[in-house]
This record gives sequence, structure tokens and C-alpha cells, in this order.
Amino acid sequence: MAHKFCPQCSTPLVLAKIHGRERETCPACGETVFHKPSPVVLAVIEHAEQLVLIRRNLDPLAGYWAPPGGYVELGESLEDAVVREAREETGLEVAVDGLIGVYSQTGARAVILAFRAHSVAGEPVAGDDAGEIALIAPGQLPMQPAPEGAPLLDRWFYDVIHEVTAPWKWGRQTLLRK
Ligand SMILES: [Zn+2]
Repeated sequence: MAHKFCPQCSTPLVLAKIHGRERETCPACGETVFHKPSPVVLAVIEHAEQLVLIRRNLDPLAGYWAPPGGYVELGESLEDAVVREAREETGLEVAVDGLIGVYSQTGARAVILAFRAHSVAGEPVAGDDAGEIALIAPGQLPMQPAPEGAPLLDRWFYDVIHEVTAPWKWGRQTLLRK
């Protein structure tokens, strides 16, 4: 997201080559805006031996089933963010079991960190950001067409969802052995 005005002194920013690339910089006070990727957590939640998925209301991948997730807020640990997003989007209180993987993509503004978690309280209810919620038994993952021709972010996110939910493609025995 480009800035128009200096966050320090509100002077209109200009573009200048700084540390090897064009950056927004302030001609008055010298402040330079460095854009950095934002961490996003995904919560791959098990509830009653089923996978919790929500149907996304918003892009990327609006209309697709995905684990709940969202941006990490300032001051939160990654695990805090997983617990908060799970509560907001599914109504479940979860405990975080561990990191599945870290995903980045050239050109993307987010870095995705996917965590395994399991419910410890609550009943699944679709939250504000989720259109619907579903409990998926092992081997019952929804078939979702790849977003051919969609923006890079959608295709990348599709691949990440595919990868982090892959253990649920097969039956329970396979899942337990994994
Ligand atoms: Zn300034």
C-alpha cells in the first residue's frame, strides 16, 4: 500500500532510489517508508475428529472453503493470533499444537504461517468473516477447482490450503499415522 504523506511530518512523499530500490521518502525530514510483508496465520483445527473449514466471504478465494485465518495484530504472538482467529471465525476455543509450515511467494504481501490446533471448548458457529462453517471428516475434503487465471495471490493461497489440508484427504488411519 503506497503512502502519500510522510508518517512523521505529513509532507508529501517522493520516490527515490534508496538501498537498491525505489522507495517513498520524505524530502523534508528524510523518513523513508519501508514496505514489509505481513504475517498471516492459518488455523488447521480439529474438532470432534473432524477438520473445521469456513467458506470465505472475501478475496482471496472468496467462496472457497479454507481454514480460518487472518493477519497477526501488533502485540500478539502467532499462537495468540491463531486462538483469536479461531474464536472469531468458528466460535471455538482452541489449543495450538504446532507449526505446519511457513509459506511465502514472490510478489505476495503476506507470509502465511499455518498451525495445527484442536478445539478445547465451544461449538462451531460461523463468525463475521465466514459465510458458512463445515466439519470435514477425514477423506471428505470438498473438491474445489483450482482458480485458473485468477490473480497470483488466489493461486498461491489455493496451493497453501491444498497443502495444509492434505492430511485430511485420506481416512482416519492415515491421518493418525502421519
Ligand atoms: Zn517527513
